Amino acid sequence: MSELMTRPIPAPAVTLESKPFFDAAAEGRFLIKRCQACGEAHWFPRAKCPFCHSDRTVWEESQGEGEIYAYSVLWRSPTGPYAIGYVVLDKGPTLLTNFVDVAPDGLEIGMRVKVKFQPTEGGPPVPVFAPRQVSCPTGRGAG
Ligand SMILES: [Zn+2]
Repeated sequence: MSELMTRPIPAPAVTLESKPFFDAAAEGRFLIKRCQACGEAHWFPRAKCPFCHSDRTVWEESQGEGEIYAYSVLWRSPTGPYAIGYVVLDKGPTLLTNFVDVAPDGLEIGMRVKVKFQPTEGGPPVPVFAPRQVSCPTGRGAG
C-alpha cells in the first residue's frame, strides 16, 4: 500500500466575487452557485450564469458529495505523488479538484468522494476531495 497523498496548495486569489465562497470554506461549508433563470448549477462560482448569461445566480450550500469522473496521478513531483481530476457532484456541477487521503494507486473512476477543506499557505482553505467511507448500496462496501 502506498502512502496517502497530500499536496501543499498555494493560497488562492480571493476576489470580491469569490469572497463569500472562501468565507464559507473557512467555516467548513461548501458553496456552489445556481442560476435562478435556467436552474443550472455551475462551477467555479461566478456572478453570471455560464449557460444563459443571467445575473440571477444565488449561493447554495452543497453536501459536497459525488463521484470521480476522471483523474490523473502525477507520480513525480518535488512534494510526492498527487492526483487531480473531475468530480461530478450529486446535486451540482462538475469540478476540477485535488484528491487527498488516498494512495496514488487507490483511485477509481466512479469512486464516491466527499469534499473536505485543506489549509493553504497563507490563504483561506480550499476544497479537495477524499474517498467517502460508506456502506455501499451495491453490497460491495468494506466490511
Ligand atoms: Zn442560467
